[in-house]
Amino acid sequence: MSRYRLQPSPAQEQALLEHCGHARYVWNLAVEQHACWKPGRRSAPGFAEQCRQLTEARAESAWLRVGSIIVQQQALKDFAQAMANYFGGTHRRPTWRRRGRGEGFRIVAVKADDVRRLSRHVGEVKVPKVGWIRFRWSRAVPDGVKSYRVTRDRAGRWHVAFAAVPAPVPAPGTGQVVGVDRGVAVSAALSTGETLHAPGLREAERARLRRLLRKLARATRGSNRRAKVKAAIARVKARESDRRKDWVEKVSTDVARRFDVIAVEDLKIRNMTRSARGTVEAPGRNVRAKAGLNRSIMAAAWGGLVRRLEDKAPGRVVKVNPAYTSQRCSACGIVDRQARESQARYRCRSCGYACNADVNAARNIAHAAGHAVSAREGPRVAGPVHREPQRDLLLVG
Ligand SMILES: [Zn+2]
Repeated sequence: MSRYRLQPSPAQEQALLEHCGHARYVWNLAVEQHACWKPGRRSAPGFAEQCRQLTEARAESAWLRVGSIIVQQQALKDFAQAMANYFGGTHRRPTWRRRGRGEGFRIVAVKADDVRRLSRHVGEVKVPKVGWIRFRWSRAVPDGVKSYRVTRDRAGRWHVAFAAVPAPVPAPGTGQVVGVDRGVAVSAALSTGETLHAPGLREAERARLRRLLRKLARATRGSNRRAKVKAAIARVKARESDRRKDWVEKVSTDVARRFDVIAVEDLKIRNMTRSARGTVEAPGRNVRAKAGLNRSIMAAAWGGLVRRLEDKAPGRVVKVNPAYTSQRCSACGIVDRQARESQARYRCRSCGYACNADVNAARNIAHAAGHAVSAREGPRVAGPVHREPQRDLLLVG
């Protein structure tokens, strides 16, 4: 995803706001439909049914009819994706969208000549029902743009983000399998023993954010000062999320290039078996309420990483049942509920094997994918005993 600053004229801005309004309206209708649903009733309408309802709504409402059907349909599609993320456990339940907050819409079926370059620093994108809008050509637009999203941040700035499905990264052909586990102490651990940290804000930036938040608390509602502080906060947070996105791109390319098979936990199963996994990891994974926000950001980064891996290594990502991956010793295979010494350390009381708890889990994930981990190993008290692959744990997805 590459993002560019859009520079609409005042008239174009009005038209863009209209698109945003339609997208918000349709999204909120979908939220409302699902909020009314109660267990035991017929299931809430899915994407196809909602599209049919949209056609009816457009026939009845002139306001909707003059808008772009792509914008409105894609809002339903976004909602369907948001519900899927919610059920997948990586995101919260989609909620109401309010005017002025996270406004945006998506355009699909983009043709090759809908994006063009005018000069060194200026490009143009064709938006249905609006026309050509200029944007700052701050870096190369990726080849094969299939869709784009137009957004307006709280500071009132418009951006366009072009989405092109990245070209698959060729497999190295070594037959090597890597297990990847997400953690809180580290953002991702590989079965090779590597631990990867998603970048966040620097200490000075965090201090600035804290200062801004205090300022915001003191500013009067509806004042100019408050709007300015809010915009400054939005900028700091955008920087953080940009860094995480860059990280996801780098890590996914690197992993897809180095390993033939990439094993990750199947989060759908993970959520169903969460209680069965025991409470050992509860103190580690739920580091108090304070970490709540951080955890949800991490979960989103993790979801993005898995999606990108699937884009870049199609057919090479294997999802395994996560049962006991954090409690099982990756050296001797025993399930030890008390082996988790702390959030970060795993020590097997049976064979003495000790290592980073997330790396231990990543090794179990690789084992579950049916292969031995052949990359460099950490120091061990006892020798490695690779178990036979457990076929019942294997799920290819
Ligand atoms: Zn052991």
